Amino acid sequence: MQHFTPTFARDILDAAIARGSLESEFHQAVSEVFESIAPVLAQHPEYIEAGILERLVEPERQIMFRVPWVDDGGRVRVNRGFRVQFNSALGPFKGGLRFHPSVNLSIMKFLGFEQIFKNALTGQGLGGAKGGSDFDPHGRSNGEVMRFCQSFMAELSRHIGDDTDVPAGDIGVGSREIGYLVGQYRKISNRHEAGALTGKGTGWGGAHVRTEATGYGTVYFLQEMLGVRGERLEGKTAIVSGSGNVAIYAIEKLQQLGAKPITVSDSSGFVVDEAGIDLELLKELKEAGRERISAYAERRPSATFSSSGRVWEVPGQLAIPSATQNELGSDDASALIRGGVLAVAEGANMPCTPDAVDAFHSAGVMFAPGKAANAGGVAVSALEMAQNAARESWSFEESELRLRSIMADIHSASFEAAEQYGRPGNYVVGANVAGFVRVADAMLAQGIV
Ligand code: NDP
Repeated sequence: MQHFTPTFARDILDAAIARGSLESEFHQAVSEVFESIAPVLAQHPEYIEAGILERLVEPERQIMFRVPWVDDGGRVRVNRGFRVQFNSALGPFKGGLRFHPSVNLSIMKFLGFEQIFKNALTGQGLGGAKGGSDFDPHGRSNGEVMRFCQSFMAELSRHIGDDTDVPAGDIGVGSREIGYLVGQYRKISNRHEAGALTGKGTGWGGAHVRTEATGYGTVYFLQEMLGVRGERLEGKTAIVSGSGNVAIYAIEKLQQLGAKPITVSDSSGFVVDEAGIDLELLKELKEAGRERISAYAERRPSATFSSSGRVWEVPGQLAIPSATQNELGSDDASALIRGGVLAVAEGANMPCTPDAVDAFHSAGVMFAPGKAANAGGVAVSALEMAQNAARESWSFEESELRLRSIMADIHSASFEAAEQYGRPGNYVVGANVAGFVRVADAMLAQGIV
């Protein structure tokens, strides 16, 4: 029988590395969770006896497939598709689809693993999964994107369903891609199974506030975290990275609550607008136009564009990294600390490296990990599934109230778990522990499967 030792979690990690199943980003995500839950394991030998850790790091199922499609020039292209169905102890697999050239199995597994705990933290009945492809939608025509999505769904459709696995959007997968995916799924399955994908348009089964949910939720979490120290959002300058779905709606909510976001970025560089981001212009360029972020500075005299340097060198009291994993390293953390940052909330998944997170904690900067701060997106996806099942549509106001209350609950659960296990104010530990305990208890109750 296995027993807890100080190196127990490390041994499980080593065994997984030896089996070749822990690639770099995935390893990073697993290490963080295992480090956080050591005090829980010390008090709960039943998790060890039931092999919870060994089972958690092995996806229930992972699917990789060929995605052939024909470009506008008539040339045959082939991409690789993925769906990692990580853990369904709490409900159907749930997690987004990412279309980006950097997508590989390690990134899919790290995102799917994080999703298990994020989904558990929402308190809803959702398992964890992630999927996507190394397809790059940038610069592709609508026809090419449609043909790619149809080919991708031709295979994915065999593995999803409203009680099985429910994908949604992520980087490179917005309302256009979800539309094409839903259309092809409906055609192949020959049924109107509205709850098989989330992120749909509000006119055809989508939920109000799903588009806004991740960005809004991140700001609500930040507001709760600031409140613990008697701080407020009003009047504070915010440094935001990215200019996609999460960044845009984080900026919108920051502005509604009286903060002043002054930066945005994309993979070509970043913009600083000391007058405050012009949200209407940002939406016009990025949501409607799919333009590069330099176009913002060309249209706005108060803004400057830089293709070199780091957005984190711009001083501000709040930071919301909302682009991609490992976009904020230890030098960036030092720059933010020098610039007077008080609180950092991860809009993206794992945007801060472990060294950066350590630097924030050492400097007394409040830090909200993505699996807690950005859980609003999946939480509203679960509300979309509930509305689809009941054939209802709730108002924007009602959905936003629910989001607000879910984010406050996630904050309390993370805050209290950190206190309970002797790491007050450490939301990384709190979120990992609260999410882990819920999943581990379900796995324990359901036997060795
Ligand atoms: P979008 O595709 O809408 O936007 C992504 C943004 O990040 C773009 O500005 C993009 O720039 C930039 N970006 C992406 N990859 C890189 C890179 N390698 N280097 C520099 N910039 C990059 O995605 P989302 O806003 O939906 O997702 C952003 C993050 O939030 C991701 O980590 C995602 O996993 C996470 N997230 C998203 C949720 C959602 O509901 N959408 C839910 C929870 C988390 P460019 O266009 O130049 O590539």
